[in-house]
Amino acid sequence: MQFRVPKGTTDIVPDVAVKWQYLERKAVELFKTYGYKPIITPIFEHTEVFTRSIGSSTDIVQKEMYTFEDKGKRSLTLRPEGTAPVIRSYVEQNMNQLPQPVKLYYTGPMFRYERPQAGRYRQFWQIGVEAIGSDDPAVDAESILLLVNYFKAVGLKELTLYINSMGCENDRPQYIEMLKEYAEAKRESLCNDCVKRVDLNPLRLFDCKNETCQAVMADAPKLIDHLCESCSGHFDEVKHYLEMQCVNYTIKPELVRGLDYYTKTTFEIVSPLLGAQNAIGGGGRYNKLVEEFGGPSTPGIGFALGTERLALAVEKEGVFDVNENSTEVFIAVADPAAKHAAVNILYQLRSNDISSDIDYMNRSLKAQLNAANRRGIRYFVFLGSRELEAGAVVVKDMEDGAQVEVKLNELVEHLTGLVGAAK
Ligand code: AMP
Repeated sequence: MQFRVPKGTTDIVPDVAVKWQYLERKAVELFKTYGYKPIITPIFEHTEVFTRSIGSSTDIVQKEMYTFEDKGKRSLTLRPEGTAPVIRSYVEQNMNQLPQPVKLYYTGPMFRYERPQAGRYRQFWQIGVEAIGSDDPAVDAESILLLVNYFKAVGLKELTLYINSMGCENDRPQYIEMLKEYAEAKRESLCNDCVKRVDLNPLRLFDCKNETCQAVMADAPKLIDHLCESCSGHFDEVKHYLEMQCVNYTIKPELVRGLDYYTKTTFEIVSPLLGAQNAIGGGGRYNKLVEEFGGPSTPGIGFALGTERLALAVEKEGVFDVNENSTEVFIAVADPAAKHAAVNILYQLRSNDISSDIDYMNRSLKAQLNAANRRGIRYFVFLGSRELEAGAVVVKDMEDGAQVEVKLNELVEHLTGLVGAAK
């Protein structure tokens, strides 16, 4: 009996995992530069954390959540996204007492029961940030610029940035009425899901993947044309900050994103290197969310990017800058009698921070070398009884074939020099 991973999930095998670690490392470096700190929340939450915040008529809540009852009869849900848990934590941990805005980042798996396809999974990883506590449009710009600059830092060149404004509680009700009226008149052309959306939550009409519905919505009134003065002023400021940093953007009035909690700015970045699932990251402002979780009225903004899609785009761009061979030195044991001494040297190297390995398969010397070569290890140390007696080993650089004899008591220093220079 052989098991396979559940549908919509994948194993992140070592060659890919090192690339992910690299992407994560670069993200953390940049997030620090922008003043963000890490936060780690549980993988599952009380179901209501998501139903209340994401919205009961969204696809995520309606169709995609992994919800289960635990043995204590609690309804729990594997997190489908990272913002709601972070805001739950902000309120629960009284982070409003900290200097505002509180700037946080997270990484980890998310779960959505979606139809799997290239770039779309049921368990996928996100890297995300949240800045909670300020309504300054400069923070919106910071969030967008952080995402843009991160993608640039990992080597992506061609990206399209879409931005939009979803307004606030002042301009939305009037607009929703207008949208409802428009959609009512087009009911016959809409899919079954969208017909329900007209009454439940007309903004969600913009999410539909159905081409006919999309064509109908292309002519629908857009929120961005009906913003109140404060929201349109806020949006102008955001655009101004982006222009100051020479970041190109395209205004996309249909960009409502699949979650109900957004207010004012929304944004998304797509890569031309990806197929149908071309959105690598996106986010927006959520000025009502903290209140929704029982906290004081507090604005916030953040984004999340998908690690699978990002890794794919960076791979396609051909710019993965990762040294995939973590092992630098291989100790080749030419004579079984030298094994104990070889293991001793191995631990000496490791305790001096030299990443090193040895054969554990009882291979012949030739087979040891083949295996180490396949692993791409650069430096070989040859050790046999003769070398032990002489108190010296041969160190070979497999890249240029250069070979030198090194005294055993100078080996650590010698290899430290080589490995350091190669880095
Ligand atoms: P969202 O949380 O829906 O705003 O998504 C943010 C980012 O997460 C998207 O831009 C994608 O890169 C990624 N993402 C969302 N859903 C999936 C999925 N099912 N599989 C892989 N990546 C996803």
